[in-house]
Amino acid sequence: MSVIEISGLHKAFGSLEVLRGIDLTVERGDVVCIIGPSGSGKSTLLRCVNLLEQPDSGKVVVDGTELTDPDVDIDKARRRLGMVFQSFNLFNHLTVLDNLTIAQRKVLGRSRDEAERIAKQNLEKVGLAGRERSMPSQLSGGQQQRAAIARALSMDPQVMLFDEPTSALDPELVGDVLGVMRALADEGMTMLVVTHEMQFAREVADTVLFMDGGVVVEQGPPAQVIGAPTQERTRTFLARVL
Ligand code: ADP
Ligand code: MG
Repeated sequence: MSVIEISGLHKAFGSLEVLRGIDLTVERGDVVCIIGPSGSGKSTLLRCVNLLEQPDSGKVVVDGTELTDPDVDIDKARRRLGMVFQSFNLFNHLTVLDNLTIAQRKVLGRSRDEAERIAKQNLEKVGLAGRERSMPSQLSGGQQQRAAIARALSMDPQVMLFDEPTSALDPELVGDVLGVMRALADEGMTMLVVTHEMQFAREVADTVLFMDGGVVVEQGPPAQVIGAPTQERTRTFLARVL
């Protein structure tokens, strides 16, 4: 069953057409990696999936609910999606534990006890057991990003969206974050991942999507799109990043 169905998605900023008709289906449990040059619309696509950007036209359906339907309760629908950004986006004035419990309590109405129990489970999952009382500034970038992943997981999302989650990290910290993402994929989480980590895409993705100029140029299994691309634009891009 498809968890995400996107059809005919268009988005412009003024006269700049950033998404020019995107169709994408993500099946439950699948990992879809989106690759492509800077400015090709990858982040805008992810932001349209959870309506951080309002599409100009086209449809976004998540878990059977059309998010682009004007009558839908968007805050409620958005809860099905966890999002992890390049820049961590933790609340720097809150402890790690409070970062993980605040939305659980305010948005999902969980008790403090329950929220803390779930937070601790997720911190353990990302290798941060025992860091509940730390402030974000006391963590490395990789630890902060893993805390951000744990925070998103604590909301019980149906889908995790990742926008270049390792791009801001020192190289030696990238592996731990990718390891956590790989474990999530192995557990069956549905994931939409914008990344420049070609090895991750090759090994973990069910589908790789190459975007350029606001369109999907090529999509398919990694062995095809990364291993044997049919489009010249894909080959040119890969020659630059591989
Ligand atoms: P990518 O993530 O592939 O690098 P983006 O989706 O971030 O690409 O951006 C695609 C294009 O849209 C870029 O030219 C960018 O400058 C432009 N853009 C993105 N967000 C906005 C915005 N909020 N307002 C105006 N232009 C934007
Ligand atoms: Mg981007």
